[in-house]
Amino acid sequence: MFYACFYFYCYTMKFYGIISIIFLNKIVSAQNWSYSRPDEWPGECQRGNRQSPININFKNTIMEMMRPIEYVNYDRDFVAVIENEGYTLALKFDNECCDKPSIRGSVIQSDYTLHNIHFHWAAEHTINNRRYPLEAHFVHYKTEAGNLTNALNFGDGVVVLAVLYELSEISNDVFDVITRTVDDVAHRVNQPVQLDAKISPESLLPENLDNFFAYQGSLTTPNCNEVVTWIVYSQPAEIEESQLEKLSDIYTEDDKRLVQNYRPLQAVNGRGVLYTRGNYI
Ligand SMILES: [Zn+2]
Repeated sequence: MFYACFYFYCYTMKFYGIISIIFLNKIVSAQNWSYSRPDEWPGECQRGNRQSPININFKNTIMEMMRPIEYVNYDRDFVAVIENEGYTLALKFDNECCDKPSIRGSVIQSDYTLHNIHFHWAAEHTINNRRYPLEAHFVHYKTEAGNLTNALNFGDGVVVLAVLYELSEISNDVFDVITRTVDDVAHRVNQPVQLDAKISPESLLPENLDNFFAYQGSLTTPNCNEVVTWIVYSQPAEIEESQLEKLSDIYTEDDKRLVQNYRPLQAVNGRGVLYTRGNYI
């Protein structure tokens, strides 16, 4: 009887333990920040002095001759999933075929592995105060850190490739593959769904990869860690308006339409922004 009670007690405790873990996870994963109140974002978002995004004023950039970035496995077709993360739509690649895509070279001092590609509507960075309707972030963590969470402890832990998109009359095939599955995740936060065709990371990049801006900044979502080397391509890629509408038809955890998900522009604070046209030697 003692043991029965004891076991029952254990069972009860275990049950409540599981419930409280689920509850706690719910609290931790629930958004305690929103795009409607960026002034209340925590951590370095308020205190930092090299925050992102910024307006890139072309006449203030520093022209540098640089070698091009090396893109490893960017041209391979990967099985991919999309996930509604409640504040963005993210794309992740399965590495069953080969090593994960990675980048190195040029302004990038070591090897960085692709974590995900996600989207902001409208764009977060502006060029000469022009704001494009969409921006993709190719988030990479320092390969030696092993994952994105660990990489946040390195001063140079993260490299983000930022692609701006302008509207086009012609639809972009890769967005057709993504938007075909958006309905399956639109109202389901943190429940990834596999795309019905393989895609390559390269298919989301602009044609001209040699011309880009580079500067030191932060994550553009809490906690706005100042560990990011930003590469912003100066040539936009293209998306058709109906594709953009579908891509951004995403709902938050409270099932409210995520109308926009870009952070306001941050002060440059004298940071140098490099510009290269690939005129390397
Ligand atoms: Zn982003």
